[in-house]
Amino acid sequence: MSNLPSEPEFEQAYHELVSTLENSTLFQKNPEYKIALKVVSIPERVVQFRVVWEDDAGNLQVNRGYRVQFNSALGPYKGGLRLHPSVNLSILKFLGFEQIFKNALTGLMMGGGKGGADFDPKGKSDAEIRRFCVAFMTELSKHIGADTDVPAGDIGVSGREIGWMFGAYRKIRNRFEGVLTGKGLEWGGSLIRPEATGYGLVYYVGHMMEYAGAGDWKGKRVAISGSGNVAQYAALKCIELGATVVSLSDSKGSLVIESDDEPVTPEDIAAIMDLKVKRKALSEFEHGGKYKYLDGARPWVHVGKVDVALPSATQNEVSKEEAEALVACGARFIAEGSNMGCTQEAIDVFEANRKEKKGEAIWYAPGKAANCGGVAVSGLEMAQNSQRLGWTCEEVDEKLKGIMKNAFENGLHTAKEYVETAEGELPSLVAGSNIAGFVKVAKAM
Ligand code: GLU
Repeated sequence: MSNLPSEPEFEQAYHELVSTLENSTLFQKNPEYKIALKVVSIPERVVQFRVVWEDDAGNLQVNRGYRVQFNSALGPYKGGLRLHPSVNLSILKFLGFEQIFKNALTGLMMGGGKGGADFDPKGKSDAEIRRFCVAFMTELSKHIGADTDVPAGDIGVSGREIGWMFGAYRKIRNRFEGVLTGKGLEWGGSLIRPEATGYGLVYYVGHMMEYAGAGDWKGKRVAISGSGNVAQYAALKCIELGATVVSLSDSKGSLVIESDDEPVTPEDIAAIMDLKVKRKALSEFEHGGKYKYLDGARPWVHVGKVDVALPSATQNEVSKEEAEALVACGARFIAEGSNMGCTQEAIDVFEANRKEKKGEAIWYAPGKAANCGGVAVSGLEMAQNSQRLGWTCEEVDEKLKGIMKNAFENGLHTAKEYVETAEGELPSLVAGSNIAGFVKVAKAM
C-alpha cells in the first residue's frame, strides 16, 4: 500500500496517460520507456510556501502557495499559475503533469510546471488582489528565472495579475527578463498571446474536420463552456470562420441561445469580457431575453444537436452522461480548451464510439494537444524576449497555425504507428498525443 496521501486529480491524469501507453505497442517496442514513465511521474521539485497579505481592513490573511517544477528535460519549467480556492497539490500536480506533454507537443523547448495558490480572487478588491500577487511573488521569485522556470496565467490569473507579479519580480530581483509570459505588449508581451489558446483550439479542430471529411467551420453549431480567456477567443474565432456559437457558461450557470437566428455575437463576447474583468457572474449579463439562463447547469445536455463541443471552463466538466448525450445528438468533434475537461468515463464513451462507428464517429481531442496554442505562444513570447524583439500579429498567428497543425499531425501519425487502427477508423488522438508527448520527453531524459 502506498504511504502517500491520495491525489485524485493527479492520479486521474496519470492513469489517463498510462492506460493509453499500455494499450499501445510502445512498451513492447521500447521496454526502456517503462522506467522513463516511473521517473517522469515524480516532480523534480515542489516548492510550497505561505503567502501573507493584508486585506483592505488592515487584517492579515494567509494562503498556501505552490510551484510544481515537474520536468525540465526539454527546457525551463513552463506552465501557468492558478488562483482558485480549490487549488491544492493534487490539482497542481495533475496540471503540471499534463503540461509536460502538452509543452512537448508544441515542438518548442519547454519543460513542464504549474503553480498557484488557494487564494480566491472573487469578492476581493483590486488592491487586495495586487497585494496578494506581490506577496506571492516575494517568495516565488526565489525559485524562478527566464532560463529556470517561466510561469504564466491560468484560471484567476490574467494579464493584470501577471503585471503585478512581473513588477514585483523586477524590483525584488533587480532583473528585467522574460520570467513570466502573458505580459502586456508595452513591457515584453507577445501579440496574439491572449487569443492563442482559443484560436489554437479552433485551428486544431479545423484539422480534425478536414481529416474526417467534414468540411470546415462554416455552418457548424458549436457548444462552448466557460466564459474566460479560452472560451472568449474560441467563440470569436468560431464566429469569424462562419460557425454558430450556441452556449457559454461560468461556475454558476450557462447561457444558451433561444434561436439559431440570434447566435452569440462578437458584441456579446465583448460585453462578457467587460463583465468578467469586473469579476461579475454571467447571470448579470443583460441580453434582453436572447438567452436562456440555466442556473447551476453546464450547457451540454441543453444545447440540442451540435456538431462541435469545446469544454473550456475547468477540469472534469463533461460527465459520462453528458458524453452520452453529445454522442446521441450526433456531435462529431469534441476538443478540450480546458485541461482534463472530460472525466475518464466521458473519454471512454467517446473512444468507444470512435471505434464502433468508424468514420462517422465522434472524435475526441485531449487538452494537452488541442489547447497547446496558449503555452505555444508563451514559448514564442520567450523567444521574442530573448531576442529583445517583437513579432507582428501575422508572424505570431502563422507560427501558431503551424504549431497546431504539427500537434494534430503528430498525434495522428503516432496513433497510426503505435495503436491498432481498423480500416476506416479515425486514429485515437488521445493515445497518439499521449505517446508522442511522452516519447519526446522520455528520449530527452
Ligand atoms: N495555463 C495555460 C495552460 O494550461 C498556459 C501556460 C503558459 O502559457 O505557460 O497551458
